Amino acid sequence: MPLTAEHAAARMNGIGGSELASILHEQIKESGDTVYGCPRALWYEKTGHEQDYEFDESGPIQRGIILEPYIAELYSEVTGHKVARLDHKVGKEKSWEMVSIDRQIRGVPRGVGILECKSVGREIWYQMLKQGLPLRFVLQVQWGFHVLGPQYEWGVDAVLCCDPWAYIFHEVDRDQQLINMMAKKVAAFWKRVQDNDPPKRLKWSDKRCKGCLMRKTCQGAELAKAAETDDEIFGDTEIHETLSDTVATRMEMKGIIGEATGNLDDAEDEIKDVMTEAKSSVIIAGGHKITWIQQDDGTTVDGKKLEKEKPDIYKEYSKPRKGARPLNFYPV
Ligand code: SF4
Repeated sequence: MPLTAEHAAARMNGIGGSELASILHEQIKESGDTVYGCPRALWYEKTGHEQDYEFDESGPIQRGIILEPYIAELYSEVTGHKVARLDHKVGKEKSWEMVSIDRQIRGVPRGVGILECKSVGREIWYQMLKQGLPLRFVLQVQWGFHVLGPQYEWGVDAVLCCDPWAYIFHEVDRDQQLINMMAKKVAAFWKRVQDNDPPKRLKWSDKRCKGCLMRKTCQGAELAKAAETDDEIFGDTEIHETLSDTVATRMEMKGIIGEATGNLDDAEDEIKDVMTEAKSSVIIAGGHKITWIQQDDGTTVDGKKLEKEKPDIYKEYSKPRKGARPLNFYPV
């Protein structure tokens, strides 16, 4: 839901559903989901620190704001469920627990539900088709259940991808265990805000730091040190307009590869399912002989254990390895 000035001011007084991804970043990472948020950055925001770095994130935000009413309407049209806006709410007992859901779902025998509308890019879309709904989306709906009360037992993440034009409605059921864990983590974070006790900073090389609006306040010294070897982080970065088309092509190809990899995995999984059912490791299909044969198990050296228990041997059989130099792309 787009923030009104009133909501924006209210945000300073508590934690809303879209901020959980920052607080629960470790759990999100463990789930295999992409991690965007940082608790320390959220802490700076909640304790009223001014941002010290310009970073234009408005594209996806604008897309979300513009498409939200469309997604809500689409959901209503396809399912026949009525949806309605709901005012920003705060917890009955803890006023710093806040929620602004995109829509309330009404007139369904299961009772009132929560609708969250998401518009995502290709990369997240294909990742989602492969791995399921990202945990950060699930957490947001669960937080809504928590703040709005026990009468909310179910919700939906309606996810739209513009390219390819596709949508999915993913139901989320109340998960009290997850809610309890979340509520505990949020309470601990809010205490840090009140006690002026910042969460520990991430390593400066974490990709979240590169576009962080608080990165100079937070990482100033570390960044300066890093700048000796990495002048992309600090100082003037040259702009090469002549590479614009090449970079656009690269991003498009990356998206196509992501899509192709997803389709390839799906096709191979389907073939494996058929072979498993047929209890066969060799089949013929589509003009190909397809084999799926278990290779012999192998062994590998546990380098960490060897280094710890036999450091001399580890040293004797170690040789230098050139560090990787990955080509990374960050939106600016
Ligand atoms: S610079 Fe990094 S650690 Fe510091 S607040 Fe930003 S994202 Fe978090």
